Amino acid sequence: MADCGKVFLVGAGPGDPGLLTLAAKRLIETADAIVYDRLIAPEILDYAKPECEKIFVGKTPDHSSHTQAAINEALVECARTHRCVVRLKGGDPYVFGRGGEEAAYLAQAGIEFEVVPGVTSAIAALAAADIPITYRGYASQFTVVTGHEDPEKAKTDIDWDVLAHTPGTLVFVMGMKNLGLIASHLMSAGLEGSTPAAVVERGTLPDQREVVGTLGTIEELVQTEGVKNPAVIVVGSVVSCRGLLRPGGSPSKHGGPLAGKTVCVTRAREQASSLREGLEVLGAHVVEIPLIRFEGLEASPEVIAALDALASYDWVVFDSVNGVKYFLSALAELDASSEEDSEGEAIAAPRLGNLSASIAAVGPATKKALAEAGAGEVFMPERYTTDDLLEELLKRLHEGDRVLIVSSDKARTAMRDGLVAHGIVADLVPFYRNIAALEDRERLIAALQENTIDAITFTCSSAVINFADLIGDARHLLDGVELYSIGPVTTASLVERGLVCAGEAENARIPDLIACVRQGLAAHREEASA
Ligand code: SAH
Repeated sequence: MADCGKVFLVGAGPGDPGLLTLAAKRLIETADAIVYDRLIAPEILDYAKPECEKIFVGKTPDHSSHTQAAINEALVECARTHRCVVRLKGGDPYVFGRGGEEAAYLAQAGIEFEVVPGVTSAIAALAAADIPITYRGYASQFTVVTGHEDPEKAKTDIDWDVLAHTPGTLVFVMGMKNLGLIASHLMSAGLEGSTPAAVVERGTLPDQREVVGTLGTIEELVQTEGVKNPAVIVVGSVVSCRGLLRPGGSPSKHGGPLAGKTVCVTRAREQASSLREGLEVLGAHVVEIPLIRFEGLEASPEVIAALDALASYDWVVFDSVNGVKYFLSALAELDASSEEDSEGEAIAAPRLGNLSASIAAVGPATKKALAEAGAGEVFMPERYTTDDLLEELLKRLHEGDRVLIVSSDKARTAMRDGLVAHGIVADLVPFYRNIAALEDRERLIAALQENTIDAITFTCSSAVINFADLIGDARHLLDGVELYSIGPVTTASLVERGLVCAGEAENARIPDLIACVRQGLAAHREEASA
């Protein structure tokens, strides 16, 4: 458009004026007009020359806001009457905030424009809270999502299932109003409640605040702290990297409910991370002393026979994440041996998608592992125990049906026996071995002798059995130490061995176990201070 000025779509960064780019600062200094929204710090506008016209197009204190159409029109109008127009937007102009639409409108109106990228809050607010958005071994990708969906909308545009299964860090902007909904969508889609999560309010600004918890706790924490917009929501294990970046410091600025408590985790090392991280974000010091380890039985005759007959089963049942893992590696092994002659051909990772049988999982972690392996529909009981799974399966099976139960060598036979009693052909096949790990025996005994452990968690009967063997007659070492159990079977094992169970997770899941430990130990703290 002839005789019109030029519009610069400029990113103002996340808030701290120090994070303006040099280009942004120079343009603000020369602008004849600045069109800005709510999140622009006054100090940034102070760089403008006195005669610069400043036009506010953000939300006013009475919450009425300019429509996008009005903002677009204001930009065109400004370009008609000013030579250099700066459209100043928070963060990066094209990361949400409708910068792209403004550019398209200007282009259509024939107005010359240029974009000046900025530092986006979706990354910077995390950094300002000592949360690296990627970290080798924790997250090698990140996803930035709008949390600003109308919760009443019948159909969500966000594919929560995909999101929950996307590795790496998830960042939500504009999500504070829907925080509870975001957390529950992610958990229903399969993310553990113990997944580390944080909210960073007014990142990079002097009054920045952070709340750190888990998917299961973050909404409540945010409510208690009264944290508001502007804030980003971060979900993923990088949240727990704060502990690495602030050595010695409490992982939560606001102190965790388990601060000062030491909890011993007896899970196998490769499985311990979610329990460990969940306890750590609550402020606990975690000592990992695995009492079991696993070994695949890929080459056992029973496994080979089961896989050969895979097509004949009506159902394949998985009672643990490990079962899924070793089932997959057995499949891979089988594929590899049958393709040994096809030289150089890449062997595709085994997918469960083409399994003809129906698939069942005992709980959400197992279900998630199956989904990650490409399984389609997976049945799961409402209560996550093998007894409940058996009961539900019986409703769905008919006499003569064939079921493969993928299990460990220490699995209980109750499910198999229950199915067989109803005329169903059930094969309980150990796909992995569950071995006592006693390498850290000395460490555990020493810690108990030094009285440094407040609680020990057990996530399976085998760990209880190994623990009882290890403690032997030295029961006095357990004075003042609380034992927590994942579910009824593990609790029964404790009781059978004369050990006292201080608490049992409500629904046999890791997040529930974390909640249970939290409740138990925090209750003691209250008693002690009363
Ligand atoms: N273009 C902007 C984002 C605009 S959407 C950018 O790149 O940063 C507005 C959302 O950004 C807010 O709802 C909030 O989620 C986030 N946000 C902006 N500034 C922030 C800050 N200082 N700290 C935390 N979140 C911020």
